[in-house]
Amino acid sequence: IKIAKAMDQSQPNHHQLNVIFLPYPTPGHMNPMVDTARLFARHGASVTIITTIANASTLQKTIDSDFSSGHPIRTQVLQFPSAQVGLPDGVENIKDGTSPEMLGKINRGISILKDQIELLFQDLQPDCIVTDMGYPWTVESASKLGIPRLYFYSSSCFSNCASYFVRKYRPHDNLVSDTHKFTIPCLPQSIEMTPLQLADWIRTKDHAAAGFFEPMYESEKRSYGTLYNTFHELESDYEQLSKSTMGIKSWSVGPVSAWINKDDEKRANRGHIEDLAKEPEWLNWLNSRQNESVLYVSFGSLTRLPHAQIVELAHGLENSGHDFIWVIRKKDGDENGERFLHDFEQRMKESNKGCIIWNWAPQLLILDHPATGGIVTHCGWNSILESLNAGLPMITWPLFAEQFYNEKLLADVLKIGVPVGVKENKFWTSMGEEGAMVRREEIMKAVETLMGSSQESKEMRMRAKKLADAAKRTIEEGGHSYNNLIQLIDELKSLKISRELGKSRLDD
Ligand code: UDP
Repeated sequence: IKIAKAMDQSQPNHHQLNVIFLPYPTPGHMNPMVDTARLFARHGASVTIITTIANASTLQKTIDSDFSSGHPIRTQVLQFPSAQVGLPDGVENIKDGTSPEMLGKINRGISILKDQIELLFQDLQPDCIVTDMGYPWTVESASKLGIPRLYFYSSSCFSNCASYFVRKYRPHDNLVSDTHKFTIPCLPQSIEMTPLQLADWIRTKDHAAAGFFEPMYESEKRSYGTLYNTFHELESDYEQLSKSTMGIKSWSVGPVSAWINKDDEKRANRGHIEDLAKEPEWLNWLNSRQNESVLYVSFGSLTRLPHAQIVELAHGLENSGHDFIWVIRKKDGDENGERFLHDFEQRMKESNKGCIIWNWAPQLLILDHPATGGIVTHCGWNSILESLNAGLPMITWPLFAEQFYNEKLLADVLKIGVPVGVKENKFWTSMGEEGAMVRREEIMKAVETLMGSSQESKEMRMRAKKLADAAKRTIEEGGHSYNNLIQLIDELKSLKISRELGKSRLDD
């Protein structure tokens, strides 16, 4: 019966809302979009996720399990042009780029798929496409098909607004130096930054990379609406501001991860191919620690820190006197780093003060573990939401892109973040090996503030817990995010019906 049921669902039925999701292959964009696609399928839409073979393999198990539970969701898989761009088989995700050259090739491979994706859109005849900001050309695809395109923005409303006003008014131009502060224009609160904390293509006029990024941002206003993985209670002022600024509809439907990844297996496998070991070392170690005593340290899915920074961080953590669990992504040809980290790992095992996870951590499980009491985060939006959902205060260590805006949201607006003091916005490939951006003393100080027993720390922890409660309520029936998702799906259904009525009138 199950198979018959599954076959019934394999093609969208005529009356069902047929939605295509097109994620950009990097975990920070793909995870929340796949979670959102799964939520659409839970709420009655027939969903197709377009991706490539290696990327599909990281989510197929979850999608198949949803499908066999009766939710109409599937992947439509394309072959990545590996040979054409000169990449080994299986390297199809930005997180697997271990050098600038590789990253360039992955991005080129993604852009080569455009024509095939357009053909798929025509074949699948969707009623709506939800696409990552990384595919600005889908505005035209949707317009040709006469259907809405939703722009999926995988960060905060706050950062979308802040970035918009900085790009529009360029308050950082003509300052005395790159380290002088400016105030971000048009925000309801006074938020200060320095030009060095902006992405270089925004900081410098006529930067070559602007040709790559500007069309992405610009495509938002030409979309039917924006979909945010955030929630009303978290940043309502900025949710409102983003609506009035962009002049299009928007829906906040987060936190999508907490909403859809309810069981441990799904949370462990999210966005990753390997199954969790039965009794992983990190879990045994965390089980042996006291509640809220461990600091989780992660720089997201992309960053590979320079050796000098790793050394400072290792000493900062060790000297802080607080227990930690640190996920480290390896870099090509870094023998020095490997030797140092090998010794460090040994020392931490002996003292039982810290645990290292290599390359990829089951982050959702670690954050929700009772022993975890805080996180050092690079301020990637997903990590922020996931930490917040677990009620954790954060040490903010932004690295690149819009992460410096997110730091401001955490530290200045929500007051649940302790900035470690990063001064410059840099992607890991341009960090160089000349020195550390953050010194061990600064790290120790931030860890003490967050994990110590000061009043400041207690208050931050309390605020984080309140937000975690709000995050849980918003995705329950009747909550803001819940209602937004239902209302969006209803609106898309009405648009489908109007379109079909229009068509049948023309046929008559
Ligand atoms: N992630 C994970 N394990 C890791 C590193 C990252 O599960 O070792 C997940 C994390 O839970 C999040 C995503 O990858 O969902 C990273 O997205 P984020 O926006 O935090 O940062 P980015 O990687 O895009 O910089």
